Amino acid sequence: MWNKGWDEYNGGNVSYRLTKEEASSIEADLEGTSYTYYTENRKEVEVLDVPEHVQGEYLLITASGSHFRTLCLQPHEDTGIIQLTPKGYRVVAGFVTGKRPTSEIFMHILAHAARLKVDSNHRVVIHNHATNIVIYSLLDEVTSESLTLDLWSVLTESIVVFHDGIAVLPWEVPGTQLIGDDTARELETHRLVVWAKHGVLSTGKDYQDCFGLIETADKAAHIALELKRVSGKSIHENNVLSKADLKKVCDVLGVEGKYLND
Ligand SMILES: [Zn+2]
Repeated sequence: MWNKGWDEYNGGNVSYRLTKEEASSIEADLEGTSYTYYTENRKEVEVLDVPEHVQGEYLLITASGSHFRTLCLQPHEDTGIIQLTPKGYRVVAGFVTGKRPTSEIFMHILAHAARLKVDSNHRVVIHNHATNIVIYSLLDEVTSESLTLDLWSVLTESIVVFHDGIAVLPWEVPGTQLIGDDTARELETHRLVVWAKHGVLSTGKDYQDCFGLIETADKAAHIALELKRVSGKSIHENNVLSKADLKKVCDVLGVEGKYLND
């Protein structure tokens, strides 16, 4: 994500929900690695009331103040495995220099809880500052409907990849439970959420799935921005995909496209 320019300095955070098999063999799997596995003094860190259906789950999560530029060189410092408790979490492994999970921990816990309700295969939450999506959210007062239709109409692949659309939250202070709650609400009906004037987050069954979502949305945002710049016209004054075209794609995919019925 750093190579993409999406995670400047300490921007961005990622979490992965371990499978039952992975969770049952953490200690053995980490043997001989630079991760420390903690067998005692696993103090509970209180964060929020954790939804019951994710209590006990294990998350591999990035640290607050970690840098994606160097994270791959020192994952044992910049990531850790936590187990969710009724009020927060306990550190099970990693964070060997004492770092803590990302300040967006509210969002990560609540996002996993929201997506697990609609998709039992859900595993990954990624947040970053994908450049073109951020620019797009600064140009106009975008809404979930306007952004979804703009990005769908400039690149056929968009509706194929995110046929459930892209949700937009108005600007909010990052790292708060409020932004976590609002994000989780949108994740009940979308896999991609834009935080206006800040960044984007995606959810999915694996990392490729999440990267693919953001790559496609960011590419479409780039095309839309260029289209506006080159033509000097609004998106829909150009020769873009019509709602009728988009409905045809939905018919092939066998999905109900949002916002396509006038
Ligand atoms: Zn951010």
